[in-house]
Amino acid sequence: MNGMPGGFFIYRAEGRKEILYANQALLRILGCSDYDEFRELTGGTFPGLVHPDDLEAVEESILLQIRQNEDQMDYVEYRTRRKDGSIRWLEDYGHYAETEAFGAVFYVFVSDATEKKRRQEQERAALRLENERKEERLRAYDRELDSISREHLRRLYMIEGLSVDYRSIFYADLDADFIQAYQLAPFASSLFPQEKRIRDFSGFVEEYASDWIHPDDRETVLRQLSPEQLRRQLSQNRVVHTNFRSRTGDSVEYLQLRIVSVGGDERHSRILLGTRSVDEEVRHSMEQQEFLSTALQQARTAVEAKNAFLSNMSHDMRTPLNAIAGFTMLARRHAENPEQVRRYLNMIEVSGRQLLRLITNVLEIARIESGGDQLDERPYDLREIARQVHSSLFAQAATKNLTLSLNLDGLREPTVCGDRRRLEQVLHHLASNGVKYTGPGGQVKITVSGPDGPGGYRFVVEDNGIGISKGFLDHLFESFAREQNTTHSGVFGTGLGLPIVKSIVEMMDGDIDVKSEPHKGSRFTVTLPLRPMSEEQAAEAPVSKASGGGKILIVEDNELNMEIARELLEDAGFSVDTAENGRVGLERIRSSRPGEYSLILMDIQMPEMNGYEAARAIRALPQPWLSGLPIVALSANAFEEDKRRSIDSGMDAHMSKPIEIDPLLTLIEKLAGKPKGAAS
Ligand code: ADP
Repeated sequence: MNGMPGGFFIYRAEGRKEILYANQALLRILGCSDYDEFRELTGGTFPGLVHPDDLEAVEESILLQIRQNEDQMDYVEYRTRRKDGSIRWLEDYGHYAETEAFGAVFYVFVSDATEKKRRQEQERAALRLENERKEERLRAYDRELDSISREHLRRLYMIEGLSVDYRSIFYADLDADFIQAYQLAPFASSLFPQEKRIRDFSGFVEEYASDWIHPDDRETVLRQLSPEQLRRQLSQNRVVHTNFRSRTGDSVEYLQLRIVSVGGDERHSRILLGTRSVDEEVRHSMEQQEFLSTALQQARTAVEAKNAFLSNMSHDMRTPLNAIAGFTMLARRHAENPEQVRRYLNMIEVSGRQLLRLITNVLEIARIESGGDQLDERPYDLREIARQVHSSLFAQAATKNLTLSLNLDGLREPTVCGDRRRLEQVLHHLASNGVKYTGPGGQVKITVSGPDGPGGYRFVVEDNGIGISKGFLDHLFESFAREQNTTHSGVFGTGLGLPIVKSIVEMMDGDIDVKSEPHKGSRFTVTLPLRPMSEEQAAEAPVSKASGGGKILIVEDNELNMEIARELLEDAGFSVDTAENGRVGLERIRSSRPGEYSLILMDIQMPEMNGYEAARAIRALPQPWLSGLPIVALSANAFEEDKRRSIDSGMDAHMSKPIEIDPLLTLIEKLAGKPKGAAS
């Protein structure tokens, strides 16, 4: 046995499991040089040979194998401790046998399996490592997949978010000629075969254009969507867009088509197309543009009109001024011939009136445009106004050989409450236009009727004159607008009459309507919601201070004006007294006898004491016959505010200069009665 390469030993199967025999090879494995050392190391027993940590498992395994195995063989592996303390692995092939001499024994072949074990261990470790690496790789792969899908999801969310603005979104490949819909506007879904969202690009473009694009924009979009054009444009810009009108039934909507090159290929085959509504923006900017161009147009028209106005004005002012200068010179030269002088003075008067009208109109329009105008509501008789306008133009009409008629048949309640002066202005402008723009032999009719329904009173001025062209009707009420200037038409005017009329009518909540045809005539209809009044109501409203008999006190610092007023009034039969400023005027009144004065004409701007102050002081006088004297402001300021200031300071009326004698006399008569000695 000692010649065997492997170890061999025999031990009793029972009791201490004493080793009965061990060969040299086993001793070598254990590093023992003789049996004594072996016995010392193992105690001469099998359990002493086996490493204590393995013993229990080894013995159990052997027992189990012997019992189950018919050949009564077993195989176990265990560690053993060598003499030098190092650990070796043993492979143990045992055979259980019953012997006569020793009873039950195990014959055991052992070999040193340390190397094998180590190799196995290494292999196993390597395998483990390999497995671990594999697992780590798998885990990493999983993680990557996870993050990819999360990123993917995020991108999808992003796309979804960005897509809200878009009606439809398509992906197309120009090389492969296909288009795929990712998001489809309901109307476009018919362009894709059912359930499928993919089809040929070229066919799609054609159908889309013919079904949904407004005919006027079709060509442009088709050109834009041709692959060559797309590639060319996308090579210059990553994004290209085009706006077009889409057609759904009768409604038209502005859409924008945006195209982006994706996937980075140089031929720009892969593209993303999106359509979104830009209706609001486009319409808004169109409105803005229209607004701007209208504003520009209006500004231009206004500038043109103003320029034209200025040139008209300079002409229109120059003409009467020339006339005045010329006739004055002539009058002086022919001073000895009263007939001639009277004629020249008439001419001068006409020219002066023209100038006055021009200035009044310009002031009036300036006041209306500044927005500070107010209505003066008082009772008055419409018939009176109509007749006044009629008679003021009658002579002019007659000179032109025109028939100017007045019809009041339809006027049922002639007393109304309103702004008398304004209404007179309206009627006067309309009627004088009728007279101005109607040739000899023509007819101008003024008709006043009402009240009728909610519109109230109707004022119609119609003529069969030159009429107004369709084109000019739109500009009729613009300031300074005239169809033909004075030079061209020979008709004096400023283009301010109708704007004034319209502003007044609007101020009174009324309406104005014009019907006109060139060479046939014009018909202006004004409707005003004036409040009708009974005679009694009207009588209660105005306070007549007419007492009659006394002098008129003119308070005026300008000598020339004073002289004019004095002459005019004295001519009309009044006796007149004068004061050169408010303070002197106040003194005159204070020291006057009862009934000495019947009315005061008060200038406003004066040194020492102005008209407002003087009027207030007079109203504060203790004697009622003095404090109650009628006071009329005579002022160069004709604005409503000035008038209001005059009334506020206690004056009864306000007249603007230069003095128009007829209205002044009417007013004086109304407030102070007729001049002494005049027939009543
Ligand atoms: P004016 O008469 O001072 O020019 P208006 O504002 O009163 O200014 O009128 C503006 C323009 O409208 C006139 O220049 C004229 O071309 C036209 N127009 C006004 N009324 C008539 C009318 N009854 N018939 C023909 N044209 C008219």
